[in-house]
Amino acid sequence: MTRLHDIAAHIDGYDTESLSVAVAQAFIAQLVPRVGEAESVPLKSALGRVLASDIVSPINVPAHDNSAMDGYALRASDLAADVPNHLRVAGKALAGQPFAGSVAAGMCVRIMTGAVMPQGLDTVVPQELVQLADDGTVMLPAGVVRAGDNRRLAGEDLRCGEAALQAGRLLRPADLGLIASLGFADVPVVRPLRVAFFSTGNELRSVGQALEPGCLYDSNRYTLWGMLLRLGVEPIDMGIVPDDAASLEAALRLAAECADAVITSGGVSVGEADHTRAVMEKLGEVLFWKLAMRPGRPLAVGRIESRGHQAILFGLPGNPVAVMVTFYAFVRDALLAMSGATASSLPMLRAATTTAMRKRPGRTEYQRGIVSRGADGRWQVALTGSQGSGILRSMSLANGLIVLPHDQGNVEAGEDVDVLPFDGLV
Ligand code: AMP
Ligand code: MG
Repeated sequence: MTRLHDIAAHIDGYDTESLSVAVAQAFIAQLVPRVGEAESVPLKSALGRVLASDIVSPINVPAHDNSAMDGYALRASDLAADVPNHLRVAGKALAGQPFAGSVAAGMCVRIMTGAVMPQGLDTVVPQELVQLADDGTVMLPAGVVRAGDNRRLAGEDLRCGEAALQAGRLLRPADLGLIASLGFADVPVVRPLRVAFFSTGNELRSVGQALEPGCLYDSNRYTLWGMLLRLGVEPIDMGIVPDDAASLEAALRLAAECADAVITSGGVSVGEADHTRAVMEKLGEVLFWKLAMRPGRPLAVGRIESRGHQAILFGLPGNPVAVMVTFYAFVRDALLAMSGATASSLPMLRAATTTAMRKRPGRTEYQRGIVSRGADGRWQVALTGSQGSGILRSMSLANGLIVLPHDQGNVEAGEDVDVLPFDGLV
């Protein structure tokens, strides 16, 4: 296992006092191990899970050549090119009821969409292009079809033996349908990642408790709970841990013993970090970073161990917005990678900001924005209001994060900025 200092030595621009978001992400990508264990689950339970091995098609999809239209199947070579053709109807082919006979030259078969192409026929003329004579023959005007028209070929979607889906795929509704179309009832998926989390701070109270003067309710465990559930991991809520070394050590040990990753919030900022650092370092290798980002300056990252069980540790800042932003910037990708998911970058919108923004080059900033369509039909984004890192309401009001990159300076109203939308279709 690579030691943290060796990872750092191989990364350009590694500076614990001012670490860029990109460098921190590159470090974390090298730190996290993959959970290899797979399990088999019923198809309906596989939504949002990571595919553990390739799904190889045992059949051609479609299994047979079939019709893409309601109409008449024929042999293109029977048709005269420049005069109307009259064909007699030999029978019917319906979806699920193939036409079994053979079709003599100059004849056609009434066929419905999805029905298997009768033996020897290669083309379908849509019903709206033909006329039916009183004697039941079909009349095609000249030139309405070319050979092969409206015929779907066997294996056109997927060939037998081809990988329909690759290991590492985060399964979405279309994938469930695709797996079903191959006839599989169960799916090999990576076992869910176990992620323990707790809040630190003597000032914190849990919902339902009385609030003494100077105290506040713990909200971070609820945002974390929501973000973890959305990622498809198994969250383990360990509650609030007081700011003393013995309690923190006990909580971290328990977490390392039962989880693949541990997320804490609070206790890593300057002034509070000392006892946290002492405890975390006692249990493993943990680095304390000052990130070049806003919100979310302090971050502890590393590995801890107890009784032979290891876990990756993310010590997030305490401020509620900083918790969410650092989760999305670092923890999300790390947990997906640990789950074996193939890396993919989130799509960004370009939107014109309606608000000017002060921005210092040399750090990445995440502002909370409300994206909408402007009168001109283009995307625009407005700030939610005050952007303090303790103002959780700014996340709740927002529908996207405005990402101002590291080197960016001040932004004028009307300039385009990158926005990470919160919502996706699937
Ligand atoms: P800390 O990083 O522990 O110094 O916390 C920074 C700020 O975030 C302080 O004002 C804390 O009261 C607040 N904070 C820390 N943890 C939580 C939490 N779980 N829920 C809400 N606010 C918190
Ligand atoms: Mg604290």
